[in-house]
Amino acid sequence: MRQLVDHRPSHGEAAETRVEDADRRVQLLRVAGGQRWHARSLLVRPRFASEWRRRSPRACSVPAVTASRSRGRRLAVLTAGVALSVSLSPVSAPSDAAPPPDTASRLGAERQVLAISLDGFNPRLLKKLGRTGAPNLTKLFRTGASTRNARSQVEMTVTLPNHTSQLTGRRIDAAEGGHGVVWNDDKPIRPDTIQEAAGGDVDSIFTQVDAAGGSTALFATESKFSLFKASWPDAVDRSTILQDRDHDVTVAARRDLLRNDRAFTFIHLGALDEAGHAKGWLSRTYLKAGRLIDAQIGILLKAIRDHAKLHDVVIVLTADHGGEPGARGHSVPTNLENYRIPFVVWGPGVDKGDLYEMNPTYADPGEERIEFEGTQPIRNGDLANLSAHLLGLSAVPGSLWGADQSLTWTN
Ligand SMILES: [Zn+2]
Repeated sequence: MRQLVDHRPSHGEAAETRVEDADRRVQLLRVAGGQRWHARSLLVRPRFASEWRRRSPRACSVPAVTASRSRGRRLAVLTAGVALSVSLSPVSAPSDAAPPPDTASRLGAERQVLAISLDGFNPRLLKKLGRTGAPNLTKLFRTGASTRNARSQVEMTVTLPNHTSQLTGRRIDAAEGGHGVVWNDDKPIRPDTIQEAAGGDVDSIFTQVDAAGGSTALFATESKFSLFKASWPDAVDRSTILQDRDHDVTVAARRDLLRNDRAFTFIHLGALDEAGHAKGWLSRTYLKAGRLIDAQIGILLKAIRDHAKLHDVVIVLTADHGGEPGARGHSVPTNLENYRIPFVVWGPGVDKGDLYEMNPTYADPGEERIEFEGTQPIRNGDLANLSAHLLGLSAVPGSLWGADQSLTWTN
């Protein structure tokens, strides 16, 4: 479906696709993995009933999609103006509606998970901004279970592959059981789904929550994140993508958290990455973006503080990759500044302290780039199974990172 959407933001091509040489890596992994790509089919996959319309005032081709969920209770409306917004909202509930939200949507679990990925978040940002510049991030890291020395994926340190690992718990290389998402844009030649990339079924934290009867939502600032709704159309109950609009995405997520009872909500904010590509990591522009991002975290923390229905929210915050100070890219996977990322768990029942001290089955890697052998560092790919664990669910089928769910948030 994405192939007919003009994903370009009005002010030019997304920084990510402009700067990064994702294609070259794709070729390498493609050869290594022995994978074959299929041209994107223009046929609509069976789960969607779609109609295509021209709606944009700028006359780019934009689809309006009406999707019937297999359960027949939700309406998907895909709209686009300046930004692309994909939204699945509940409509009037028929008589055979699911049980009340508290059990149906939250799985009866004692908590709900709010996962946040800050694109291009080099943990050195925290020290640069300090408590004054980043009061909210500082609060998470000081009062939660945290580390500033987690790791990205081994094979690649770019956005879409790493986010797919966060959500699936898989490594990247499909030949080794990974998800196979080795591209970092939404060009028409890309596979339509992660399943197509992997060459088989791929589960995720979304499908795991959905199978247990829970509700999920995804909010993102990059159009390429439409891959997730396309891959798990029934399990991602809402997907809202507002290109480069971190504040609007935060506000939309806040509203959704207050109005719905999701078990799992995922938010991607891209301003740090954008600033890094434009002016360099840890540049003044990057630090300014850091303050903006911190304010968005503040909006979410205030909502959690002010509303009793959100007092059960546990935040899992990490990043896809970092970036080297002064550099404007982050695609070299052997660079410490690229593969070192933060990871924090915060909320009711979460102890304050260092995640590595709480987790002796993991090891602080120092400055090392740990591959697949030996004791593992905490990785962004732990997000899926940690979230499942927090929700009382078993590990995501087919996952690698944290599949034993030993990663704990208590001393
Ligand atoms: Zn980037």
